[in-house]
Amino acid sequence: MPKKQVDLIIRNASELATPYGSNQKPLVGKQMQTLKIIKNAALAVKDCMIVGVGKTSSVTSAFKATETIEAEGKTVIPGFVDPHTHLVFAGSREKEFETRLKGSSYMDIQREGGGILKTVRETRRATEDELTHNCRRTLDIMLKHGTTTVEAKSGYGLTTKDEAKCLRAIKHVSRAHIVKVVPTFLGAHAIPPEFENNPEDYVDLIVEEMIPSIADANLAEFCDVFCEEGAFTVEQARRILQVGHKHGLTPKVHADELTPYGGAELAAETCAISAEHLLHASEAGLEMMSKRGVIAVLLPAASFTLMTQRYADARRMIELGVPIALGTDFNPSCWTESQQLTIAMACRQLQLTPAEALTASTLNAAHAINRAAEIGSLEEGKRADVLILDVPNHRFLGYRFGTNLVSKVVKDGKLVVNVE
Ligand SMILES: [Zn+2]
Repeated sequence: MPKKQVDLIIRNASELATPYGSNQKPLVGKQMQTLKIIKNAALAVKDCMIVGVGKTSSVTSAFKATETIEAEGKTVIPGFVDPHTHLVFAGSREKEFETRLKGSSYMDIQREGGGILKTVRETRRATEDELTHNCRRTLDIMLKHGTTTVEAKSGYGLTTKDEAKCLRAIKHVSRAHIVKVVPTFLGAHAIPPEFENNPEDYVDLIVEEMIPSIADANLAEFCDVFCEEGAFTVEQARRILQVGHKHGLTPKVHADELTPYGGAELAAETCAISAEHLLHASEAGLEMMSKRGVIAVLLPAASFTLMTQRYADARRMIELGVPIALGTDFNPSCWTESQQLTIAMACRQLQLTPAEALTASTLNAAHAINRAAEIGSLEEGKRADVLILDVPNHRFLGYRFGTNLVSKVVKDGKLVVNVE
């Protein structure tokens, strides 16, 4: 048999490790731990797509390539998918960080006009170009750390005009950047100061004006709500998610982050694709999520930055069959671009194994943003988003932390990061 011509072969990898299960359903329970692991592995790419995965000997006897990458001593895994970021904002909050170190809580700071509201003021003042520039800079760093697809939420505009401006910035950067960006409308991130005394009027504005105009302009795929004491009540969140759904926006919920508030239950009830944070989720809420297949997007870096020592009960979620994904929660109070750091925290604070954390950062994360048919695992027929890590096996993920293990990033079949 003549060898088939392909564009790229990555070969002689010490190990290739990937979750598998194509695009059927997010992985749950023991499936999260069960990776496909190939020693002395190779991967073949043609027209941006993976066309062969296996032992180097079998891949190289079936294919010949225009370009070859030697991966001796290295580990090949899928590109990271970060399913929860607040990518688009202006300014920074390093002063507030120091205030928090002295003991002020997140909600104390918000009540004094800091926190989200400071970022809202700065984001409203910024131009669409400035915001696009900020997003581009962040994506550059994320890509170097191995993230090839991110979800990005609006939520620092909080007017129809400024929310649309943020989502347009996401759209511009997504078109131009190597990293693919999936947009989420989060107009219900905080009650803006001008609606402080009449929050119901702000909910009216979201459902009557923001959602229809944003859906019309095709600026978002998902609609998220910060359902929390001091933010949006369960009733308000339900109304926003239902109207979003009617306009074609799939529900997501910031749920039970700071208090037990019924967010997990709401996510299950509204058939949300995911519920995020879940530090205080009730057992009943988790059981409902498990039944409906709602993905728990866990954000250990957000817990780390809150300094409350409270983390989501990931082991219980896995026992209950709730699928878990991991995200950075990149935002001005949790400023990390690194999914590798998230994995290190997930191993230590959520007691995930490196294999579970890898599944949660790739295939399950792709499910959480409705991209599992295209990305999230190294399987034939998926897009060739591939990382080559400078370590001999996947167990180094999380084990070594605070340094960037990425040696090469291949996005859509092209070598886009190459650390010599
Ligand atoms: Zn968030």
